[in-house]
Order: sequence, then structure tokens, then C-alpha cells
Amino acid sequence: MDIAGYERILTKRKAEIEARLTRIDDDLGQQRSADSEERATETENDEVLEEFGQVGETELRAIDAALDRIDGGTYGTCVTCGQPISAARLAAVPHTPFCQECAAGRQGR
Ligand SMILES: [Zn+2]
Repeated sequence: MDIAGYERILTKRKAEIEARLTRIDDDLGQQRSADSEERATETENDEVLEEFGQVGETELRAIDAALDRIDGGTYGTCVTCGQPISAARLAAVPHTPFCQECAAGRQGR
């Protein structure tokens, strides 16, 4: 398995999310308009931005955990059943800690 390749992908993705989260923080910190109609739109935008922020932080934590597993030598192994995670699945979701079967089982329950 090309661990170094996955590490590169995860590190790059992490940098992208961090850059995006920084931009969101900047946007949320900007001055509010005096116009009340614009303020309402901005409040809506803030809610969307905060949602992006939460999704981003969840993914960021998952990526950090995956990088820890690379360090620990357990990357690519399902944390639930201990079976290897398929290369196709890692290519689609490089930070996943679960094999296809366990991920499906978690969603079904
Ligand atoms: Zn599993």
C-alpha cells in the first residue's frame, strides 16, 4: 500500500480545510451592515458558513486521526474489525477508519 501517497493526500486536504476554515472565521468576523435587509441575508450566510465550518472541523479531526494511524502504522486497517480497508475505499475516503462493511453497518443501525 502506498502510505506515503495517502499521507500526501491527507496533508494536502488538511491544509485546504484549514485555509477554508480561516476564511470562514474572517467572514464571520466582518462588520455588519447598517441596512436591516442586508443584515438578514448576512445572518443566513453566517449560518451556512458555520455549517461549513462544522463539517470542515469534523473532517479535520478525522484526517488528524488518520495521520496518527499512519504514524502508528495502523493506517488502512479497520478500527472496528481489524480487516484491511480496500484501496478503492481509501481512494474515495482517505481518512476513513472503517472498512466498507463496518461503515455500512454503522449507517444501517
Ligand atoms: Zn471493518
